[in-house]
Amino acid sequence: MNPELYPWLVSAWSQLQGRRANLPHALLIQGRPGLGKTALARLFAQRLLCEGPVGGDLPCGECAACLWFEQGNHPDFRILEPEALSAAEAEPRATEGEPRKREGEAASRQIRVDQVRELQDFLAIGTHRGGLRVVVVRPAEAMNVATANALLKSLEEPPPKTAFLLVSSAPDRLLPTVRSRCQRIAVAPATTAEAAGWLRARGLQDAEAALAYAANAPLAALEDAEERAVRDSLVAGRLAGGSRDALELADACQGIAPARVILWLQKWIVDLVLARTAGSIRYHQRHASALRALAGPLVLERLLRFERSLVEAAAVAQHPLNPRLFLEDVFLRYAQIWEASSG
Ligand SMILES: [Zn+2]
Repeated sequence: MNPELYPWLVSAWSQLQGRRANLPHALLIQGRPGLGKTALARLFAQRLLCEGPVGGDLPCGECAACLWFEQGNHPDFRILEPEALSAAEAEPRATEGEPRKREGEAASRQIRVDQVRELQDFLAIGTHRGGLRVVVVRPAEAMNVATANALLKSLEEPPPKTAFLLVSSAPDRLLPTVRSRCQRIAVAPATTAEAAGWLRARGLQDAEAALAYAANAPLAALEDAEERAVRDSLVAGRLAGGSRDALELADACQGIAPARVILWLQKWIVDLVLARTAGSIRYHQRHASALRALAGPLVLERLLRFERSLVEAAAVAQHPLNPRLFLEDVFLRYAQIWEASSG
């Protein structure tokens, strides 16, 4: 079975093909979030490792190397990513109220320096299959200074037959010394037409609206659509109707990871701020008049303070000790935005 190349990645893919004949030690694949840059890096890694008939642009999907790769155990491939990401993929939907499988310390959202040390052990030996060895680092901005400096040694004196593929939505946050070691591949944003066509082919109604909500990132729009019913019950069913009952609002978010709820609430607040400051509504066009009515009596300073508090909430939303209480607390503070202005 051949892996999928998303239609908006075709141009970045052909740039990558162009580098294959004279492969640099490190490539930096950069572009906006939600485009599938990691999927692109993985597909390119698989193509580099593929042992099938020479010639095709895509990996053959049938040789031993491709089968190992697809099962996640190719011996010459490594992916360096924060533990929180690997954990999230192993368990994509956190169920509210259910105790988390991982007790104690939350999984790291950074790439730790000992992960780079383990990688160096892997780089110290020859390749298993005699071909290339490929390392994907994603997102590269999850490396702190210590981690980046540890990796830099391998980028400066690359082991033979090794290709590093760094993936980043925020290349400005990388150490300049890391950036300068990489050749860049820019992933252009999807056009609305191609992204909407792709979403419709996946059975998504209202693809344009879904894209607008997801800031034009097609993969985020698809993920979002799966949660649409719950989001509608929160946003259209309650927030737009003026509900500020923290318990009822938390009830409406049953079964959704708190980090997603915080993201929805952040977008709702952006629109409340825009409605209050007479700008145009960005995410919730359908609720423009409700937003203006809700925003009318608000004290802008309180609204902005709540918006800032959501940034802090987002930082702990991956692993709150008690998801239900965490959300109730956030919604209580949401209700308080109005209390001050009505008194
Ligand atoms: Zn193959």
